[in-house]
Amino acid sequence: MKIAMIGTGYVGLVSGVCFAEFGFQVTCVDKNPAIIERLQAGEVTIYEPGLDELLLRNARDGRLVFTTDLETTVADADVIFIAVGTPSRRGDGEADLQYIYAAADEIAAAMKPGAVIVIKSTVVVGTNADVRARIGKARPGVAFSMVSNPEFLREGSAVEDFLRPDRVVVGVHDDAGAAAMKRVYRPLYLRETPMIVTTLENAEIIKYAANAFLAMKVTFINEVADLCEKTGGNVQDVARAIGMDNRIGSKFLHAGPGFGGSCFPKDTRAYAATGRKMNAPQTLIEQVVTINEQRKRSMATRVIEAAQKNGEKSVAVLGIAFKPNTDDIRESPALDIIPVLQKAGLAVRAHDPEARVAAEPVLPGVTWCKSAYEAVEGAGITVLLTEWNAYRALDLKRVANLMSGNLLFDLRNVYSAQDLDGTGLEYHSVGRPLVG
Ligand code: NAD
Repeated sequence: MKIAMIGTGYVGLVSGVCFAEFGFQVTCVDKNPAIIERLQAGEVTIYEPGLDELLLRNARDGRLVFTTDLETTVADADVIFIAVGTPSRRGDGEADLQYIYAAADEIAAAMKPGAVIVIKSTVVVGTNADVRARIGKARPGVAFSMVSNPEFLREGSAVEDFLRPDRVVVGVHDDAGAAAMKRVYRPLYLRETPMIVTTLENAEIIKYAANAFLAMKVTFINEVADLCEKTGGNVQDVARAIGMDNRIGSKFLHAGPGFGGSCFPKDTRAYAATGRKMNAPQTLIEQVVTINEQRKRSMATRVIEAAQKNGEKSVAVLGIAFKPNTDDIRESPALDIIPVLQKAGLAVRAHDPEARVAAEPVLPGVTWCKSAYEAVEGAGITVLLTEWNAYRALDLKRVANLMSGNLLFDLRNVYSAQDLDGTGLEYHSVGRPLVG
């Protein structure tokens, strides 16, 4: 079975590499020649733990190739995955499906009869049916199957998530599509990963509802944190106790600066927009979107108020990526917070283990540092924004000595009150009492 993977971003590259690891012949296509050149040279274009080893091994063994030639690749493929981006459309928050339709048109022109076309990208309900109709119109009389196979991997643990998912969701309209997916995911199936075979529409809604629910959980605990701050509570104790209730579960109950990333913000906006469009208002998720946007801005306000109170002029920001173990900065809280700090007249020094290359062009005026300790040198305030391992065990006495001021904002609740003993730092965290 030959697989074509259209789009070699975070999802397409990881999926393509993992399907090759399953033993299939995989050709990954991207329209960006710079990405393909680097991949052909054996250079991994995204930071994702474990990906480089699998990529190099499968490329060396000849199961994995990279090209910009979509037409030839698709003409020879049995299963064609679409893993292109579906960003937010400016203004209304709807998902911008232009890359999906463009890829579908190119596929329609080149595919062989009997091909199985799989949308892996996150697309709003009705898109698979639309694409199916569009391809049917472009190639009348040519048989093909349409499959919706949303991806649930998390950046930072994408390879592990792809190889050991909680479940695989497959939306189909015919038996051929379902049979192809059973073959493609057979290695997981053998390990008893549940495969949900359902309709195209259900698969599309499942992906958005899952992300909307997780975003709602994060937003919920962030508001609990606000209440804890006003009342002397401790959100970590509260989250731990409520999370022990199996009906609630302990995951995604970490208070912080608001969710970011390439999925939650855009997917909650698109989900809410779909609700409005279909006259099925998703008011809960509308609120989640609004609360989260306000939250990111309010984090900057906290820091600015403390700076003004203490006469501080500079801030060290530790962590730019939206979460650890990725170089992805899309909609990261740092991108909202840093410009507001700068606008308030604060000089920003920053460090991130992997995201500097992506961040430098979009964060002008920042002084980039090679380590956390270099960043905090001479800073009045330190803000810990991403809980990279490198920031989890900082020598806080050394940090305090290097800083010119003594304010530490730990917006990920990495440290405990005991860690601050003897440092002289004034420690602000999220939903927990002030220390120092
Ligand atoms: P991305 O922006 O990292 O990558 C998309 C790639 O597709 C780009 O390299 C682009 O050049 C390429 N592309 C666009 N049009 C093309 C075409 N016609 N032919 C060939 N290549 C083309 O996107 P991503 O983060 O991998 O996300 C892809 C989809 O998967 C989105 O719908 C996203 O919502 C979904 N998703 C993402 C994640 C994640 O963690 N990133 C997780 C689950 C689902």
